[in-house]
Amino acid sequence: MQLPDSLLLSLQNESSFHKNEFLVAHEQPAPVSIRLNPFKVINPPAEATPIPWSEYGYYLPERPVFTLDPLFHAGTYYVQEASSMFLEAFFKQVAPEGPLRVLDLCAAPGGKSTLLSSLLDEDSLLVSNEVIRPRSGVLADNMTKWGRINSFVTNNDPRDFQRIPGFFDVLVIDAPCSGSGLFRKDSDAIEEWSEENVALCSQRQQRILADAWPCLKEGGVLIYSTCSYSRSENEDILDWFSESFGCTSLNFTDLPEGIVEVCTEEKNYGYRFWPDQIQGEGFFIAAFQKTEDQDEVQFRMNYAGKGKTRKQESAIFSDWVDHIQSYEWVEKNGDFFLLNPDHRVDFEIISQQLYLRKAGIRLGKLAGKDLIPDHELALSTLVSEKSVPRLELNRENALRYLKREDFEYKTSKKGWHLVTHQGHSLGWVKVLPNRVNNYLPKDWRILMDIREN
Ligand code: SAM
Repeated sequence: MQLPDSLLLSLQNESSFHKNEFLVAHEQPAPVSIRLNPFKVINPPAEATPIPWSEYGYYLPERPVFTLDPLFHAGTYYVQEASSMFLEAFFKQVAPEGPLRVLDLCAAPGGKSTLLSSLLDEDSLLVSNEVIRPRSGVLADNMTKWGRINSFVTNNDPRDFQRIPGFFDVLVIDAPCSGSGLFRKDSDAIEEWSEENVALCSQRQQRILADAWPCLKEGGVLIYSTCSYSRSENEDILDWFSESFGCTSLNFTDLPEGIVEVCTEEKNYGYRFWPDQIQGEGFFIAAFQKTEDQDEVQFRMNYAGKGKTRKQESAIFSDWVDHIQSYEWVEKNGDFFLLNPDHRVDFEIISQQLYLRKAGIRLGKLAGKDLIPDHELALSTLVSEKSVPRLELNRENALRYLKREDFEYKTSKKGWHLVTHQGHSLGWVKVLPNRVNNYLPKDWRILMDIREN
């Protein structure tokens, strides 16, 4: 792998950079790793080994064809490179006590967001944002797979979050960067790397940080990360930031072996990951606590429930979700969304001020007295075991279902069934007297040949 000379030259002054070892590491394949979903429990694969800084992360001995694993489609795990999973240990140390409102500002495709979602209890709210519209769709799909009710997805520019000042307790900015840390995984990125691009990224990182900062409350925590090795996207950003805004740098104690702590001229702490010193890709992470005054968004909920209608809806929804009274639901354009009642006000604030793509769990639409259940409901963990029948499929038939082909099944019941593989939901089918209707959304279907392996 031919790395840019100017990159190697620019790293010469980093005390933790060891050129020869770094070059050797770039001749090795990138390790493959996955992170399990704690809310959809599976056993780690037989030969997997734990990632030292992550409770749910595992290295795999080789790369399987994930598309051909129904459990991947069920959202039981996320494929993520190992260094990024350090966010788990880092968040646990630097984040304030919950319940929290957390914004993941640059969130697509959803690696950090699914990780954050795993760390938050039901009372906390995670807002995952992506500015680029098609990428926000991919993000919403990945959050749907993760299946949690306390997750919203927005599609906004960072400066739009100034409309909700002081709203969040934690702001995660996994900034767009020059990407040198991922050269091993994506060698095409080498061609695109240039010193000019590093300078442009650095300016953009400053703009994003300054634009988003007002939405963090006083005392709240900003976590900043990149997958770049360049000082001007990492340490220099920290020093610029602490000179421009009221904040204190937070440091990490009990650092796992191989992760390098740096302390900048302005006494800001950051954590560097080099692929020759840990089993993972290049990564940088740091955190600040906000010490300056911050106004907070004011909002008064003026909400009167529609008693009778809600009673009817409640009777319908209770056939699908146990303890329906412990949730809130809202209707938008004929779709019903299930929310944690603690997040009802957040829903109003965010849907009024931002472009909300996904909120809570979409239950589905009403057709008379029947619910047409949504795919989001299938992929949540909320579907009643008591009243909704399951259609358990083996791997071969699960893949056929996921490809929207004919598959073999056994059931004596008619009507809606939740299709499962090893107990984990894949989607809906409706069993009719002489056939089955497959309700897997068309754009979720497997495109590759499922008979390859
Ligand atoms: N956090 C993601 C994860 O773990 O899967 C990866 C995020 S990637 C490093 C940076 C993201 O920032 C990309 O999704 C990109 O589309 C988005 N982005 C690009 N330009 C941006 C801008 N000007 N403001 C905010 N986000 C931007």
